[in-house]
Amino acid sequence: MSKQEIYAYSGKILRIDLTSASIFYEPTIKYAREWLGGSGIGQWILYNEVKPKITPYSPANRIVFGAGPLAGTLAPGSSRLSADSINGLTLGIGSSNCDSHFALELKYAGYDQIICQGKARKPVYIWIDNGNIEIRDASHIWGKTTWETVDLIREELGDDGIHLISIGPAGENVVRTACIIQDKGRALGRCGLGGIMGSKNLKAIAFRGTKGIKVAYPTEFYKMAKKLIKVANGPATAKYRDLGTPSGLTSYNKLGMMPTMNYREGTWEEIDNGAFTGETLNIDWVVKKVACSQCSIACDHIARVPKTHPDYPDLFASVDVEMCYSFGTNTGCSDWPTVFKCIELCDDLGIDAISGGVTASMACELYEVGLITKKDLGYELPFGSTKNLVRFTEEMIMGKGFAGEIFGDGTRQAGIRLEEMGRKNAGYYGMHIKGLEMPAFDLHGMTSFAVGESVSIRGACHLRNGAYGLDAKGTFDRFGYDKPLERGKAIIDVEDIYAIIDSYIICKFTRGIYENDAEMAKVYELVTGIPHTEASINERGAAIVTLSKCFNIREGWTRADDHPPEKFFKDAHTKGPAKGVTLKEDGYQKLLSGYYEARGWDVETGIPTDAILKKFGLDFVIGKLKPASGGKKK
Ligand code: SF4
Repeated sequence: MSKQEIYAYSGKILRIDLTSASIFYEPTIKYAREWLGGSGIGQWILYNEVKPKITPYSPANRIVFGAGPLAGTLAPGSSRLSADSINGLTLGIGSSNCDSHFALELKYAGYDQIICQGKARKPVYIWIDNGNIEIRDASHIWGKTTWETVDLIREELGDDGIHLISIGPAGENVVRTACIIQDKGRALGRCGLGGIMGSKNLKAIAFRGTKGIKVAYPTEFYKMAKKLIKVANGPATAKYRDLGTPSGLTSYNKLGMMPTMNYREGTWEEIDNGAFTGETLNIDWVVKKVACSQCSIACDHIARVPKTHPDYPDLFASVDVEMCYSFGTNTGCSDWPTVFKCIELCDDLGIDAISGGVTASMACELYEVGLITKKDLGYELPFGSTKNLVRFTEEMIMGKGFAGEIFGDGTRQAGIRLEEMGRKNAGYYGMHIKGLEMPAFDLHGMTSFAVGESVSIRGACHLRNGAYGLDAKGTFDRFGYDKPLERGKAIIDVEDIYAIIDSYIICKFTRGIYENDAEMAKVYELVTGIPHTEASINERGAAIVTLSKCFNIREGWTRADDHPPEKFFKDAHTKGPAKGVTLKEDGYQKLLSGYYEARGWDVETGIPTDAILKKFGLDFVIGKLKPASGGKKK
């Protein structure tokens, strides 16, 4: 291989200034070895280009879309797109990725990343056809749903095969939970990134790329890719293929980790009796299993409501365990068509279905405890609601009525607004960390993940810190607080590897197909030609997490913010494996200190030390971080 050539990367970053309608290019290679790709490069750009304390919706904010070095190769699950910006909900790092044809088109068009900055004067969409880039009027599409937008843009461009990302009305209205949808399927769901696009008057980006990419060592890579594909078709991923992620309903219910009725319980009789399980979902409702490009696992299970259904005839929804939780177990609704309808509303109108469902769950509990009433809403909303849950969800997304005004921006804002109205302690029922709604794990009996989820760089999240596996597998006593340093190291291991995965970018469900981290380092080297070892790649994972943490500290996050909701410390389950258990503050603080110590961050403040910053090549951060004063932004 010649030293001058770039392998696997397309080689260019595209920058589009929407204010001046200007286009710039810069080389990718300066970021490649250190920041790998995807979110790693995205977060470097954010730290270095976005000034402290600006709001997510300022034209000075950036949104960075990226593919990784593996996209476009045969590596399984590698067709993923990342988006990084300020988080609309936490105001720290916002980062999301999803499987996407878009990532392939981006690479094949000749780009690794797109940085969007500024704000267009009127609604626009960007059309990138290989080297030809146009900023087009989107006034006629503004107000349309994401699915309508796909059809309209494809029709306008005269090509049904064009892939695009777009926002729905929620993003246009700069709703904090707004997401970005890829084609009519996958979501860049978390962190409110749809609102960032909306604030820039950017309705969509459409792509066509027809070039190829080269890998550095094709023969060796082909051999490795064949092996990885074979493993990806084997037992390591069977659960995702067979029942899809909803297989987790039963397994987490058994462990008392399945949040039910807004975390009042961790088990549910509707799972015990088989009414609301992955098996039932697949037997009664799933009509198709769909795979992302370059994946043979096909975990995406599409459910269909029959034409004869009185309320939602012929409705299709892509069903993931997170939505079975957010609109199902957590709202106490076991009526599958209701759950499907709520998923469809979130995807089509454009909000994150985890945030949406958890916010609806908060509303159900507030209704049950009398902090909101039928008079407020215009209808009843107890746990287990069906049609009223759908009505609430649509109003919440579209900003209509009490549901929209109070709950439209997620749980934290709902708590603030209700308490300002004199509804005392309403915020207590909002299950979020730092503003981002919690994913499907009940922390009462998960002491390792209580820390992992609380330190996650984007707020409550199981996809930036996978320490739930430590509790589910029993690596440590999940009800206890022993071995803080050892646990801290284990929590870090899963966090760092996730940072690498989100930068390569590959699907997290394919992680188990690699024999070890050394093989993950090898695959990078084979496609890019840039040497990395297990030790050096893990160091880059730690560097990416640390840089994200620095961004968050700069925005005002403190040790006190690394904390689960109070409910876990005060209210215990009444049944199941975690019956009678609450988290203990002193034990939690001990484990949190263990995590900071293992990171080499200051234990009192959670701020990375100068020595650590230097070790990771983050010298540009030294001297810029101070313990927050004056409180954090809300
Ligand atoms: S495992 Fe599922 S989410 Fe991951 S790449 Fe395959 S189909 Fe897509």
